[in-house]
Amino acid sequence: MRMVDLILKKRNNEELSKEEINYIINGYTKGVIPDYQVSALLMAIYFNGMTDDERLNLTLAMLKSGEEIDLSKIKGVKCDKHSTGGVGDKTSLVVAPLAAACGVKMAKMSGRGLGHTGGTLDKLESIPGCSISIEPDDFFDQVNKIGLAIIGQTANITPADKLLYSLRDVTGTVESIPLISSSIMSKKLASGADNIVLDVKVGDGAFMKNIDQASELAEAMVNIGNLANRKTTAVLTDMNEPLGCAVGNSLEVIEAIETLKGNGPTDFVELCIYFVTEILLVCGICKTEDEAKELVLEKIANGEGLEKLSLMIEAQHGNKEVVNDYSLFDKANEILEVKYLGDHACYVQKVEALTIGEAAMMLGAGRETKEQDVDFAVGIVLSKKIGDLVYPNDTIAYIHSNGKNTKVALEKVYEAYSFSDTLVEKQSKIIKVIK
Ligand code: URA
Repeated sequence: MRMVDLILKKRNNEELSKEEINYIINGYTKGVIPDYQVSALLMAIYFNGMTDDERLNLTLAMLKSGEEIDLSKIKGVKCDKHSTGGVGDKTSLVVAPLAAACGVKMAKMSGRGLGHTGGTLDKLESIPGCSISIEPDDFFDQVNKIGLAIIGQTANITPADKLLYSLRDVTGTVESIPLISSSIMSKKLASGADNIVLDVKVGDGAFMKNIDQASELAEAMVNIGNLANRKTTAVLTDMNEPLGCAVGNSLEVIEAIETLKGNGPTDFVELCIYFVTEILLVCGICKTEDEAKELVLEKIANGEGLEKLSLMIEAQHGNKEVVNDYSLFDKANEILEVKYLGDHACYVQKVEALTIGEAAMMLGAGRETKEQDVDFAVGIVLSKKIGDLVYPNDTIAYIHSNGKNTKVALEKVYEAYSFSDTLVEKQSKIIKVIK
């Protein structure tokens, strides 16, 4: 086989066979096929797309390039939940404990934040002492004992995806549905869960900017998951405004804890309940949506969801007292009130997620490059969201700052908000489900 013939084949919009895709992925991972040839192939895929068989074969080839996690040591129904990334997205910190309280085994490997989106691992590390590096056997024991663990990747999974993603980044080939779906699904399949629930974010703060693109990505991922014999569901959710109110690591953990206590912001609570409901249905724990929803609400009301989070923090060497005493988190030196400057009452029309995410990143809550450290204490808390009525001099948001870029963050928060004299309806964050 010669790589140049495979590039020509894809350039001419013909289908690559399983053997041909394996040849490309093996050769590239071993360093035998050079970047320039793989770049040409990626561009041909970008323009000509891939068939369902090609997407599955690419996913499986990337999966097999590294280690696969064998979750068979964990007893019971295992589920993984994955988000394509957004602003204020602390969903896993609420959904995983609630699903565990309902009897699902949540063995979750998460990532770090990059750019304007946050990552679950950074949020967890904002809890004093909490570790995200756990040996595989301790990880299995923890999930068997308490039903959940959220950790960083331990094994060397999907090295081919790491190489390809870096190459896509510098060759203008990131925004390709076949390449994104196989990249995400190779990692999900390698993480070993029987059931997968995907949160595909759509809007200005997300990777996918419109519903058509997001639906196509969701369908592609569900198709790959199901073809690989994992029960897979995707939910399209809105990311045109930040999720909930808090954006920034410890601020988001506090909001997640409050949500498990039954005091979360309406949009975030709705989304979390929806996801746990989907998990219970996919995993066969409940038969109907009503039954599942009732069970989730019970686990919030009786505190079992919060208890699971607290047990997970303790198992991962963190101080579980944080769930009762928020003073144990790092605090910012300064909290700045952002006031509504208009001269008459009106409604919040927009709170751009991307701009708020960028403001939080500039304060130090996120990273522009992979190497940067994050400041756990800083961030933004919105006190007015889309559809809220505001009066002159009302506080619309709070900026928690340690002195880095406070003025720029303030300007960005003002830039993110727009107002309307006419009533603005609050919309549900759930757009549609793809199974
Ligand atoms: N996230 C991934 O893991 N891969 C992509 O290609 C895009 C987003």
